[in-house]
Amino acid sequence: MRLSQAFQPTLKEVPAEAQIASHRLMLRAGLVRQTSAGIYAWLPAGLRVLRNIAQIVREEQDAIGAQEVLMPTLQSADLWRRSGRYEAYGPEMLRIEDRHGRELLYGPTNEEMITDLFGSAVQSYKELPQLLYQIQWKFRDEIRPRFGVMRGREFYMKDAYSFDADYEGAVRSYYRMMLSYLRIFRRLGVVAVPMAADTGPIGGELSHEFLVMAPTGESGVFYDSDWDAIDWTQTPLDPENPQDLEKLQHLVATTYSATDEKHDVQAWEKLPPEKRREGRGIEVGHIFYFGTKYTEAMGIEISGPDGQPFAPQMGSYGIGVSRLVGAIIEASHDENGIIWPTEVAPYRFSLLNLRPGDEACDRVCGALYGADPDNILYDDRSERAGVKFNDADLLGLPWQVIVGPRSAKKGLVELKNRVTGERTELPLAEAAHQLG
Ligand code: ATP
Ligand code: MG
Ligand code: MG
Ligand code: MG
Repeated sequence: MRLSQAFQPTLKEVPAEAQIASHRLMLRAGLVRQTSAGIYAWLPAGLRVLRNIAQIVREEQDAIGAQEVLMPTLQSADLWRRSGRYEAYGPEMLRIEDRHGRELLYGPTNEEMITDLFGSAVQSYKELPQLLYQIQWKFRDEIRPRFGVMRGREFYMKDAYSFDADYEGAVRSYYRMMLSYLRIFRRLGVVAVPMAADTGPIGGELSHEFLVMAPTGESGVFYDSDWDAIDWTQTPLDPENPQDLEKLQHLVATTYSATDEKHDVQAWEKLPPEKRREGRGIEVGHIFYFGTKYTEAMGIEISGPDGQPFAPQMGSYGIGVSRLVGAIIEASHDENGIIWPTEVAPYRFSLLNLRPGDEACDRVCGALYGADPDNILYDDRSERAGVKFNDADLLGLPWQVIVGPRSAKKGLVELKNRVTGERTELPLAEAAHQLG
C-alpha cells in the first residue's frame, strides 16, 4: 500500500476522553474512528490487525477440531425466555422491536442460540462431542464504555461452545480449549495467564479468565513467572490425547495464578520471591464449564447408549478479538507509538522513501515495494524525513526500511528494528532477502 493513497487519517489532537495509551494510539495512527459512544468504525490498517488476530484464533480453533459457524447478531427474545435469561440479563442487553411488534435483541453472547441449534440437529450421543465456534459482533450496552475498543458496546468476539455426553468428556473439552487459548495468545505475541474465576451470569462450576499484563488493566493479578516462560506453540501436548489434557490440567492447578479476588496469600508466599509476578491484567478471554444449565432449561435431550434421553453437558469459551487489539497495544508500546508483534502487524514493514523524485531512492524503493505491494506500507509521500520517521514509529510495524539518497546510490538501505531502535546499513539484496 502506498501511504500517499492510503485511507489512514492520522490525528494530531486526540479527544480528551481517550485516557489510556492504546485508545490514543489507535486514534492517532488512524486505526479506528468512533462513530457513537462505544461504537467504532475500523479503518484499513486497524481492520488488517483485527483480521490477523481473528485468523490466528481461527487456525488454532480449527487445530483442536472446532468447527466454525456464523450465527446472526439479532436473536429472538423468546429464545432467551426459554433459558430464563431474557429478564435476568438486565440493561446490558440491547432490546429491539420489529415492525410486527416482535421482540428481538442484539446478541451479547450466544449460549441460547447454539443450544437451540444443537438441539434441532443432534439426536444421539454418537454424534458427540461437538465443538462449534464463531467470530461475530456482539452488543452489550455497557454503562460506561471506555478505553476505546477495550470496552466498546459493539465488539468482536470469538465464542465457542462444547457439547459432551458426560462430565469427563466436558472437562476434556474444557482443557482442549484451554490449550488452544494458550497457543493463540502465544502466537499473538502476548502473555495471557489463565486464572480461576467466578462464573457470574453464565453460571456453572469451572471457569478461567485469561489476563494480559498491562498497567492499565482493571484487575490486580499475581502469578508464577513460569507462565511467562512456557512457549505453548512448542509443547508437544496433543489436544486429542486425554493424558496430555490431564497433564495440562495438573500444570494449571499447580502453577500459581490469581486475580485479587481469588488471591491466596499463603500459597503465594510459598513461591520463591524471584518467581513472583504481580501487576494488573486485562481480561482477553474467558472459559466456562456449566454442565446441563442451558440444555436442561431449554429442554434439549438426546438419546444415550441405553436408549434413555439425557441433557448434554456444555461449556462456552470467549475471546475478545477487538479488545485484544487494544490490549496488545497496552502491553506493547513506547512513548513514540505502537510496537506490533510480528504476527498481528497490519503490514510486514514500513518502507520510507526519504526523497521521492530522487532517481536512486525511487529505483531502490520500487524494487523492494514491487516484490510484495500488498504487505508493505510504502511511505512515498512528499513529507520531511522527520515526519516519516515519526509516523512509522507511531504505526509501529516491526521493521522499517529507510532509503535515503546517498546510500541508495550505493545500493544500500537502512533497516530499523522498531523494538530495539537499532539501525543497520545493508545492501538492498540482503534487505530484500531478510524481509522476504
Ligand atoms: P468484562 O469483565 O471486561 O466486562 P466480561 O467478563 O463481561 O468482560 P465475557 O462475558 O467473559 O466478558 O466475554 C468474553 C470476552 O469478551 C471477554 O473476556 C472480553 O475479552 C470480551 N469482552 C467482553 N465485554 C467486552 C466489551 N464491552 N468490549 C470489548 N470486549 C469485551
Ligand atoms: Mg462485562
Ligand atoms: Mg469479566
Ligand atoms: Mg468474563
